[in-house]
Amino acid sequence: MNMNRLSGRIATLAIVMIFALAHTGHSAYAQSTVAYTYSFDIQQATLPPLFYTDLTYIAHLGAVSAPSVTVNGRAPLSSSYSAATGDLVFTSDQVGAAVISFSAVSAPAGITVNKASLKGNKAWAWSHGMDDNVYLQNQIDLITAKGWRATLFMIGKDVSPTRQESGWIIDQPGLVELIDQGWSVGDHSWSHACGSGQTAAEITKGFAVVQQAVDASNHPDHVVTAFAAPCFDAAYDAPFEALRDGATTLLFNESQGNPLMNVDGADYTSGGETASAMDSTIDKIGRDTGIEASSSGAIATFNWMSANASANRHFWFNTLSHGNQESNLTKVLNSAYSTYGPGGTDELWMAPSDEIYSYLLVRDNTTILVGTLAESGRPTSTATNTATATNTATATNTATGTATNTATATNTATATGTATNTATNTATATNTATATNTATATNTATATNTATGTATATSTTPAQEVPANTHIVLLPLVITP
Ligand SMILES: [Zn+2]
Repeated sequence: MNMNRLSGRIATLAIVMIFALAHTGHSAYAQSTVAYTYSFDIQQATLPPLFYTDLTYIAHLGAVSAPSVTVNGRAPLSSSYSAATGDLVFTSDQVGAAVISFSAVSAPAGITVNKASLKGNKAWAWSHGMDDNVYLQNQIDLITAKGWRATLFMIGKDVSPTRQESGWIIDQPGLVELIDQGWSVGDHSWSHACGSGQTAAEITKGFAVVQQAVDASNHPDHVVTAFAAPCFDAAYDAPFEALRDGATTLLFNESQGNPLMNVDGADYTSGGETASAMDSTIDKIGRDTGIEASSSGAIATFNWMSANASANRHFWFNTLSHGNQESNLTKVLNSAYSTYGPGGTDELWMAPSDEIYSYLLVRDNTTILVGTLAESGRPTSTATNTATATNTATATNTATGTATNTATATNTATATGTATNTATNTATATNTATATNTATATNTATATNTATGTATATSTTPAQEVPANTHIVLLPLVITP
């Protein structure tokens, strides 16, 4: 009998698929910048009433782009950045939270913020005052023509509330006009008493007259802080001290002191000139009257200040003239403007003495706290982003049956990579994203085996024959009874 033997076959199908996806970072942005913020606090001790409360700051940032700053949420009054020095110099009358924003290729190291010795970070300051009410208009006009301001120290009893004859005398209408233009007024006593007769009333009655002009102006908040003792009379010292920053808003006396001052805190002598230590705890400043004799003395002092000023040494020179001094004053003004002012090196801060004194007072009572640097934007420069997807699919198919076996494995693998950027303050961000995707393919192989077997059996009956040597024995027929 034939038999079909069903042979078994084992088919094994193994599919291994490996997908490797690798994204390399955006190297095209290698030179891009990162946005940063430097946040710090500005604190201020309680100050006496002041009209001028500006303070200039020097923020050393280094090589950055587009720096800007707010203090207490407000833009500064002025701001400028020098790529040469890496300094952002800004002036603000605000205190509280300060934020400097900028961009840089890498995080700047060693950011510092300091107070400028003088407003606008100028090298030295000059203030000018004019006394005794009369024959001042020409000098006023010369100073105004430069875009500058100064102070008129008034003898109270001579100020008319209404007179307008500025050709020879300045009265309240003229004072009001000047205050509106940003000029300052100071108290020069009531009657100009000197040698004798100095009393507290001389100071307070004179003060009341200039305060009245302030009250009538468009700047009624302009605080009168300056007093000039008539004749530089030291006898005013005691009553002035008693009235200072209490019964009056007066803060300093233009008398007795050195008119050439070092506002960075120590006496400084060079070439036979001494600038006296000056800060806001000192309530006397000097007045130089040399302009009334010659223009050369003041100009020589300007030259000395320019030559001796430095990052740690800033000067203040205070001058005085009475009426009819325009001839010398115009030479001094022209020299200052064209050499050291807007027409020259622009290193000079020309301002009324009360503005400069107020600046020192604000400066000396303001504290800058150490700040913190933070990234404010996503880095795009040196970030490396790597995503790897590994996909392994294995299909195993075991079929037993006929010789024809069809196994189909369908395997779909999807690799999804998600990259997350983590930035550091150094603008070097390493970002690694790993996506692992495992796809399992189930392969079902169905083998249908049809086995048909036909078995045919043939059977043959063989013929009988007598062998050749067969003997036939004939037996008698016996008949049995
Ligand atoms: Zn005088």
